[in-house]
Amino acid sequence: MKTIFSIEDEESLVSLLEYNISSAGYKFEHSMTGYEGMMNIQKVKPDLILLDWMLPDISGIEICKFIRSNKELQRIPVIMLTARGEEDDVISGFDTGADDYLVKPFSPKELIARIRALLRRTSERTSSSKLSYANIIMDIDMHRVYCCDKETKLGPREYRILEFFMKNPGRVYTRQQILDAVWGTNVYITDRTIDVHIRRLRKALSTTEECKVIRTIRSSGYSLDIEK
Ligand code: CA
Repeated sequence: MKTIFSIEDEESLVSLLEYNISSAGYKFEHSMTGYEGMMNIQKVKPDLILLDWMLPDISGIEICKFIRSNKELQRIPVIMLTARGEEDDVISGFDTGADDYLVKPFSPKELIARIRALLRRTSERTSSSKLSYANIIMDIDMHRVYCCDKETKLGPREYRILEFFMKNPGRVYTRQQILDAVWGTNVYITDRTIDVHIRRLRKALSTTEECKVIRTIRSSGYSLDIEK
């Protein structure tokens, strides 16, 4: 069970949070002052922190800075809760490392949706050092590609193209989209250059029949798809 920790001084809001977060299937813990909150998150090491912007003893920004500079806490996602009128300050909240924010009063449904989305994003970030599709596995940490358990050597551009495709298999990308994702915008590369790299990538993946996964979509572009 994931633990959501709230640092919030408004009692009525704390009970609302407690009720809705527990009903959504999370464990709820909280502190009502900033310093106590900073002590407790170090003990609890929650999966997500809901941080009030204005606390009686220390500001949410200071706490956020503390979280991001603490080795054991820095990866924990933070949602800032701000009062209306403080939105302009929210931008500095992102500077200090908050992942998302909600303006009070917010609907419990919206809060739970944001919590779910952020927890999902965080677990993808930490656990997806591998991408796989059909018989291809990309080990992102080790920068290696395997086709049917055999390692395949790719050039840097081919590697980036494959990584881009593997993140959204089945989706058709135009040459322009591939260019933007792999070479970056404001770069002048002809369509032919992209075709050359795609051809190299195909060749590298063609060691086995099962790994021929790059499909040409006439007059549109390319996609990662098992040819039927
Ligand atoms: Ca407050």
